[in-house]
Amino acid sequence: MKAIGSAALLPILPRRLFASTNARRCRPSDSTWPSDSAWKQLNESVGGNLIPVNFPLAALKTDPEVDAAKLLSELKNPYYIGDQPGLTQTLGWVDAWATKPSVYAVAARNAHDIAEAVNFARANNLRLVVKGGGHSYQGTSNAPDSLLIWTRHMNDIAMHPAFVPNGCEHTMKPQPAVTVGAGTIGMQAYQAVTTNGGKYVQGGGCTTVGLAGLVQGGGFGSYSKHYGSAAGNLLEAEVVTADGQIRIANACTNPDLFWALKGGGGGSFGVVSKMTLRVHDLPEFLGAANFTVKASSDDAYRRLLREFVSFYHEHLFNDHWGEQAEVNPDNTLEIKMSCYGLDAEQAKKVWQPFLDWVARAPHEYSLKGRVAIGSIPARHWWDVQWWKEHWPEIAFPNPNGNFLIGLLDYGLVHLLQPVLEFDNRPGARPDNAWWKGDGGQVSWFIWGYESLWLPASLLENDAQQRLADALFAASRISGVGLHFNKGLAGAPPDAISGARDTAMNPAVLNAFALAIVADGQGPAYPGIPGHEPSIAEGRKAAQRIDRCVNQLRAVAGETGAYVSESNYFEKGWQQSYWGSNYSRLVEIKRKYDPDGLFIVHNGVGSEQWSADGFTKL
Ligand SMILES: Cc1cc2nc3c(=O)[nH]c(=O)nc-3n(C[C@H](O)[C@H](O)[C@H](O)COP(=O)(O)OP(=O)(O)OC[C@H]3O[C@@H](n4cnc5c(N)ncnc54)[C@H](O)[C@@H]3O)c2cc1C
Repeated sequence: MKAIGSAALLPILPRRLFASTNARRCRPSDSTWPSDSAWKQLNESVGGNLIPVNFPLAALKTDPEVDAAKLLSELKNPYYIGDQPGLTQTLGWVDAWATKPSVYAVAARNAHDIAEAVNFARANNLRLVVKGGGHSYQGTSNAPDSLLIWTRHMNDIAMHPAFVPNGCEHTMKPQPAVTVGAGTIGMQAYQAVTTNGGKYVQGGGCTTVGLAGLVQGGGFGSYSKHYGSAAGNLLEAEVVTADGQIRIANACTNPDLFWALKGGGGGSFGVVSKMTLRVHDLPEFLGAANFTVKASSDDAYRRLLREFVSFYHEHLFNDHWGEQAEVNPDNTLEIKMSCYGLDAEQAKKVWQPFLDWVARAPHEYSLKGRVAIGSIPARHWWDVQWWKEHWPEIAFPNPNGNFLIGLLDYGLVHLLQPVLEFDNRPGARPDNAWWKGDGGQVSWFIWGYESLWLPASLLENDAQQRLADALFAASRISGVGLHFNKGLAGAPPDAISGARDTAMNPAVLNAFALAIVADGQGPAYPGIPGHEPSIAEGRKAAQRIDRCVNQLRAVAGETGAYVSESNYFEKGWQQSYWGSNYSRLVEIKRKYDPDGLFIVHNGVGSEQWSADGFTKL
């Protein structure tokens, strides 16, 4: 049995909590594997959308004729990967998992196809796996010898000016909302809701993350410090449960299932076929602040961190500022923050005292490269065509002032690098684009990855020194990313109350940031010459990451980790991911999936299954 982690959970997790039917799921080598005619029948019932799953990387190992350079370059395109039922955005994790294709996939078009696949898997005792955007770091959307429900093509999007969840007619007021198919990724939702609709929906920061996986993990985007978590914005889901029923889940109908889908972890409670999310007004401007300060000595770096903690508390700890600051071993502090609702002048004004502080000690601090602080009309933030058209103006600011990015230039380079990358495959959707900053993780083989919510109490005056010291100590071991948009302290009351009514660890409500420490390489996959994962280096990195995060654990007190961005080997994961909500999630799992059809690594109820999800323990 896998370690349960927290002794406190033992009473609620008796070994036979879930009903037991089949002790072992069947594999293609078993005599009980469905016959060809059974598969044929399934294919007919899903309109011919049952497909054998190809593993594109196999060709790199076995086919000397394959154009390896082309395939490796496609592996840097997240849209190419997303279009392959046999691939995932992360290719694996040292000593944990390496992506493997299912035997067959149902390329689902609607809830009916999903229900057929669920019924077939249940009736034939198959390992079932669900994939949308394919961005699980933990490998929970792939499993060898399984049947895959692949929602990639379910990306219809419909806006509603006045939506009322089914059955809530007497208790909820109509509100603007958007319904997205289960395969919808962030960029598609932003195009429909923001670029075309002039409104806002809470998707991920990374444009290629699937909304269904995002919401079920909790989910944060660059502007979550204002709008809250993705889960907190869910109004309704259509979901196929293990019994093959197509159910509506919202605050009034199946409210327990609804709550579990809001942050209880993807792939554990059923298959979401579509979701309806709250739609918000846009501010006039969305923007960013990007620059790097380098300290000339360790002592100067300590003082820089101390100053930044205090500056953050006083000027940035509010719903205007999200995304990240990176605290690095080379004594650099990299600011990569997003900005909500401020024009370029207002945004610059916020940072001026900090930049002045840096400028006052030129022997101790220098700016590496440009300082870019600015905003653009919010509606264009994800407007791919607009970015393409305005690039030259942004890169070479026009003295007449009709360019829209404000640049604070400190006598250094005047050039803004392109921020988006595009899917240049023939026939690709014109809005297929991703932020350059996310590109490094495409086809990643992870060495180590950990996260920790940092409570806002660490920002109090008497704790700031401790926090700065812990950040300094951690940075001696590895780089630390502080993701301010992934902790909701400082957010408006609506955002907090939405997130409070989800299954996420309540620690998220009091955290000013999620600290993430991670490392990996890519593209890499076992057995591909020249692209083998470095196992020894990966193991060393994992140890380093753990030691680094321990420095932060020492000051954070009792807190948690974000299920979707956390350690595969998370200790006490039930407590870490869900805290006091775990026992309620277990009850809901037992009600809707008593036989464990939906099992993912470190998901609710997975204690009862072997690591590969095939054998009941
Ligand atoms: C490069 C990268 C950037 C990221 N950036 C962010 C970020 O900015 N903010 C953030 O909060 N997180 C981020 N994440 C984490 C991401 O939110 C989670 O991994 C999320 O679960 C991905 O959803 P998906 O649909 O893309 O992935 P998938 O791998 O397809 O699914 C993730 C999990 O959800 C399940 N699932 C998917 N679709 C369904 C469905 N329809 N019904 C039931 N279960 C389903 C899968 O079985 C799996 O267990 C990032 C991850 C990566 C790899």
